[in-house]
Amino acid sequence: MVLLNCGSSRSAVINGEAPAHTIPNSNKEKTAKNLILMIGDGMGLTQITAGIYDNNNFLNFEKFPVTGLMKTHSYDNLVTDSAAGGTAMACGVKTYNNGIGVDKDGIPVKSILEQAEEKKMMTGIVVTSALVNATPATFMAHQKLRAFTEPIAEEIANSGVDFLVGGGKKYFDRRDSDERNLIKEMESKGYQIEDFIKNRRIEDVSIDSAKRFVYFTADDDPLTKITGRDYLPYASKMGAEFLKSRSENGFFMMIEGSQIDLGGHATNFKYVMSELKDFDQAIKAVLEFAEADGETLVIVTADHETGGLTIKEGSKLKKIKSDFAYGRHSGTMVPVFAYGPGSEKFTGIFDNTELYRKMKAALAL
Ligand code: MG
Ligand code: ZN
Repeated sequence: MVLLNCGSSRSAVINGEAPAHTIPNSNKEKTAKNLILMIGDGMGLTQITAGIYDNNNFLNFEKFPVTGLMKTHSYDNLVTDSAAGGTAMACGVKTYNNGIGVDKDGIPVKSILEQAEEKKMMTGIVVTSALVNATPATFMAHQKLRAFTEPIAEEIANSGVDFLVGGGKKYFDRRDSDERNLIKEMESKGYQIEDFIKNRRIEDVSIDSAKRFVYFTADDDPLTKITGRDYLPYASKMGAEFLKSRSENGFFMMIEGSQIDLGGHATNFKYVMSELKDFDQAIKAVLEFAEADGETLVIVTADHETGGLTIKEGSKLKKIKSDFAYGRHSGTMVPVFAYGPGSEKFTGIFDNTELYRKMKAALAL
């Protein structure tokens, strides 16, 4: 830390100015009205480190005044998948890999998003995967297996989540398991339904009169950042503003940089970096919102690391030499970053199920 923050003692390989970026933490000890949880799927400490150096020695991660470390193991495996990792953070229980919002015996456990809804808070989900993918599903659905994507879509359609952005339209309107059109059903429940065909860019959609809102960004998996996906930062801020303007009792939103993980599975460093920097732009947008709002707690973390990424000797700023151990998840701890009221709880080393309890305490849920 000292080496990077203090100009005089910085190592010679890091050139250029590195001012102190941290935002001062105001309103300590208070509970938060709103909570925005940002999950970088597969985002370990090395992904962030490489991203900072690859981005000329700065990413918005450095602005957070509070940092911690989180253990990610699942009930049955030291190396978690996104289903068990998401369930731990969303529901506060350890489950087996592949379990969605259920405990180790397959029994449904209420998520923090569902508990927020019961307290008449507004809720939102913004992801760069399909909405039925494991990470978002753990906040909205309860299924014994992550592969049950059509039942997950049905649960999402009935979830009452107020702001939804992500892919996976076909699981809602062209289903194999039944003839239902969940999009029509959601429309009748007051959702304004938009998609990438009607409006290629979410920026072109007006939501001023919407009570609830869904924007499908793809039929299945959204594009990668490299092949043209660009909605995450905008949709993150749009979601926060939408939920704030319609909520007296605060809101809970989960934003996922879903494809950092896919870059790791592909052992493709450029893929990882492009997705990580896109996620960082979403962090920037969310921190701007939270700073102006003053009542929003922002948590950034990961479900696990993917790829066993390493930064090798001979690396330079913007010229990282990297290697992956393999195209699978790894069991290393992941970092946690926190800003806003209640953020001081998120320091030290803790379990991913503890993240759930800390978030609930911060919201006084
Ligand atoms: Mg995910
Ligand atoms: Zn993965």
